[in-house]
Amino acid sequence: MLEALNNLLPQTQCGQCGFKGCRPYAQAMLEGQADINQCPPSGNVGIEKIAQFLGVSPKALNPQFGEHKPKSVAFIDENACIGCVKCIAACPVDAIVGAAKFMHTIIASECTGCELCIAPCPVDCIAMQVLDNPHSAPSPLHAKQRYESRQQRKENEAAEKIERLRKQKARLAAMQNV
Ligand code: SF4
Ligand code: SF4
Ligand code: SF4
Repeated sequence: MLEALNNLLPQTQCGQCGFKGCRPYAQAMLEGQADINQCPPSGNVGIEKIAQFLGVSPKALNPQFGEHKPKSVAFIDENACIGCVKCIAACPVDAIVGAAKFMHTIIASECTGCELCIAPCPVDCIAMQVLDNPHSAPSPLHAKQRYESRQQRKENEAAEKIERLRKQKARLAAMQNV
């Protein structure tokens, strides 16, 4: 039930609903902790699908959570970019490429338009551009797969770091006992 409801959501992972991503919002709706009209990217069409799935009456999007916008992609002014990598850390679907101190660029075909990269940019060189063809945006299923593989990679990196620190600590302890 959770996954089916999650699959009805846009997978933008923008957090505008007040939760850390689409799945936590789906969970909160199932638990009666959130209303069905808190997801701006879903818009009223998406809210109707959620209402149908949950067997409740549809409601208009609650403007308190934001407005439904046309599909957009982020664009970096590469001449202004200072290569701080803050946008890469913020992007939930790995749609930005670049390295420290080098200019960054957006992979437009992977960008969900979540806008999460805009606020962290210290030189304000990221802007949103409305897509001429909204169908060129990544599908929710594709975005979900990108998001989940990023989450998995981050979990693996965190586990590897803990293991490295554990081994380092064990080596130090062994040296002190010599
Ligand atoms: S797309 Fe909707 S459900 Fe997903 S995080 Fe954004 S507001 Fe929440
Ligand atoms: S590039 Fe920016 S707007 Fe596009 S998905 Fe990544 S964080 Fe969101
Ligand atoms: S946050 Fe802005 S300045 Fe930093 S790498 Fe990204 S686009 Fe460039």
